[in-house]
Amino acid sequence: MNVNRNYAALHESYLFSDIAARIRAHASRGGTRRIIRLGIGDVTLPLAPVVTEAMSAAAAEMSCAGTFRGYGEEQGYAFLREAVCGYYASKGVNLDADEVFISDGAKSDLGNMPDIFALDNTVLITDPVYPVYVDSNVMAGRPITYITGDISNGFLPLPSRAPRADIVYLCSPGNPTGAVYTKEQLALWVDYALRGDAVILFDSAYERFVRQAHLPTSIYQIPGADKCAIEFCSLSKTAGFTGTRCGYTVVPRALTRGGASLNKLWLRRQTTKFNGVAYVVQRGAQAVFTREGLEQTDAQVAYYLQNARVIAEALEKKGLWHTGGVNSPYVWCACPDGMNSWEYFDYLLENADIAGTPGAGFGSGGEGFFRFSAFCDNESARDAADRIKKL
Ligand code: PLP
Repeated sequence: MNVNRNYAALHESYLFSDIAARIRAHASRGGTRRIIRLGIGDVTLPLAPVVTEAMSAAAAEMSCAGTFRGYGEEQGYAFLREAVCGYYASKGVNLDADEVFISDGAKSDLGNMPDIFALDNTVLITDPVYPVYVDSNVMAGRPITYITGDISNGFLPLPSRAPRADIVYLCSPGNPTGAVYTKEQLALWVDYALRGDAVILFDSAYERFVRQAHLPTSIYQIPGADKCAIEFCSLSKTAGFTGTRCGYTVVPRALTRGGASLNKLWLRRQTTKFNGVAYVVQRGAQAVFTREGLEQTDAQVAYYLQNARVIAEALEKKGLWHTGGVNSPYVWCACPDGMNSWEYFDYLLENADIAGTPGAGFGSGGEGFFRFSAFCDNESARDAADRIKKL
């Protein structure tokens, strides 16, 4: 037998293990100051009370024969899909519950969605980028073209310079860059996709961090997007579900390619290969979309955004070019003095006891840049900012 040889084309990723090793080595040299970790994008606040109360109640239901539930619908319980529709309605987007698919997080759906597309489709990916888009298409053997983000385009590449492609990945607010596309910019991408018969896979995992009202929080706020875009959302960063696992993906019924409904293809794919998210977790997710749930999780998002602002202000003081930090939990800055991203990592660790993430870990377009994550406590963000200012 042969294994999938495409796996040999994957770049090994040692990013987070390299970071951990350098932090360990630094710590072993015996400094007295606490190392502030602004590297990994994992939440630090616990689940909101409204979520854990709903999960406890659901767990109690599971312990009684009368209310116990076995397999649920593969695409998610109607109560949660309807709650997601209600959330979209508050953004001015009308969806039907059968256009929403509940997942165990955005990563799985982002990685699995290409299953419904032919292997010879071309893929366009922005660089730097969340690595899952790249690796899942490398595994499938699809040809990938990159469109580079840089200071001149504010790390928001536009289609004017892009070759034609069948599948386009966009992420806004971006990871690692924190940059957010405006409605006008997204409209250019929607136009590109409609004219070229392409499909946009829109990663909206950080949409709740968008606080400026003129910026879009869903690609479906752009006319025509329901005919060319699939949207991936996650409760991981917006409601602290990184360890609890729940997300949702929207595949509009209006979206067809080659005479086939992508909604039907995805439903077929999911009902074949996925058996749904745990009932208890879906009840917790439903609670996020209640008035109380939105208030409690909003306070968490605001907490992280406050951290991001403090870090961004310190970079501003140092005169370092940066993006993100306003509508995003990430702050993305240009490394000073011509340092490459690993040199800046070492410099910050040695001189400020701060660990971030070197931009090179997100693709060659990230070289020379650095990501700070605001997923930490307020005190750590303030301390980190003070240390940066003193450098
Ligand atoms: N998309 C982006 C841009 C992310 O940064 C992440 C997680 O870091 C995900 C998707 C995955 O989210 P989930 O935890 O829902 O799988």
